Amino acid sequence: MNEYKGIPRKRLPAGVRTDTLAVREGLPATPWGENSEALFLTSSFVHPDCATAAARFANEEDAFVYSRFSNPTVAMFERRLAAMEGTEACIATASGMAAILILVMGLLQRGDHVVCSQSVFGSTIRLFQDFAKFGVDTTFVPQEDAGAWRAAMRPNTKMLFAETPSNPLTTVSDIAALAGIAHAGGALLVVDNCFCSPALQLPVNFGADLVMHSGTKYLDGQGRVMAGAVCGPKALVEGRLVPVMRSAGMCLSPFNAWVVLKGLETLSIRMRAQSARALQVAQWLEQQPQVARVWHPSLPSHPQHALAMAQQGGQGGAVVSFALRASDADEARRRAFALIDATQICSITANLGDTKTTITHPSSTSHSRLSEAQRQAAGITQGLIRLAVGLEDVQDLIDDLQRGMEPA
Ligand SMILES: *Cc1c(COP(=O)(O)O)cnc(C)c1O
Repeated sequence: MNEYKGIPRKRLPAGVRTDTLAVREGLPATPWGENSEALFLTSSFVHPDCATAAARFANEEDAFVYSRFSNPTVAMFERRLAAMEGTEACIATASGMAAILILVMGLLQRGDHVVCSQSVFGSTIRLFQDFAKFGVDTTFVPQEDAGAWRAAMRPNTKMLFAETPSNPLTTVSDIAALAGIAHAGGALLVVDNCFCSPALQLPVNFGADLVMHSGTKYLDGQGRVMAGAVCGPKALVEGRLVPVMRSAGMCLSPFNAWVVLKGLETLSIRMRAQSARALQVAQWLEQQPQVARVWHPSLPSHPQHALAMAQQGGQGGAVVSFALRASDADEARRRAFALIDATQICSITANLGDTKTTITHPSSTSHSRLSEAQRQAAGITQGLIRLAVGLEDVQDLIDDLQRGMEPA
């Protein structure tokens, strides 16, 4: 077996559907005929001769050159995710935060302005605040208030950045409304699609220009690696972001790309199963006398239930938050800690997007750097608990939450 035999290469028929693309889209197999995608752990690629090398370095010939620029395993992940998001192109990055970094480096310059939801991931807020020292200012506005987004627009606004649904209260942004506001002002709308993934929500169908991901969450789906990506039109991804990648190097490792690539194959069934379990847990929580309020987009009690169902393919996603009843903040915090500490299955971690259910107390972890007044304004109270529901048996999860519920 030291000679390639070569195999006849099948091509995907045009027009196959998303579930097929999630399993099959990529690059052709090597002549060895491997069925599972190969992991190309190599930093560079060899050229047959100097003339070919010269042509490749001059971009006259398409080829893999160096893994900071591109790599076959990374390219397979990019092609598959772009196909699932319904975009022309995708660029993979080392993490979700690196995806936001490349967006700003590639698309904005000194004097530009950004409008961003105030409910986005905490590090996203800090990163946008940091860009101020390079002359890019950001205005933070309420997640669901389209009027506030419109009012924050300036002549130099170049980007609107939204994340929907929000963490931990699952507040929904109306993507189509934000796209209208962005385009009326000559700006781009970027949507962080981490919480729904393309299995539930396709932001470009509602007018978003670019979609970013933390692949660390549901795309991997088993809490193993860091990864990120930006999906969008070729003109922006290849024209504006690829050059930044080549010089700045926030590239995705081929190993991590391989893990998330394989994760995409099961994304749709995982998201649907986790979303269904989350709804069952949410419905049970709503019936508990110890619980003051439950947030999950599939519940009719969710303030934006109809919008969420229209935007998220009828699914609520895997994140459920609930507030415990208590007479004051100290008692609320004590009850929340007691419930979380009594769980024997749920993992106490602020991460999410795993097959293992995670449980966290936002006000003392992910939102601990806010002042108590800011937390109150954002609804992150001391009695609030966030669950990111995984794939365990749902009755076992309900039993786990029951363990630490104090008598009402
Ligand atoms: C985790 C997360 C990020 C950041 O991604 P990393 O891969 O951790 O860098 C961005 N947005 C959302 C919504 C996230 O949950």
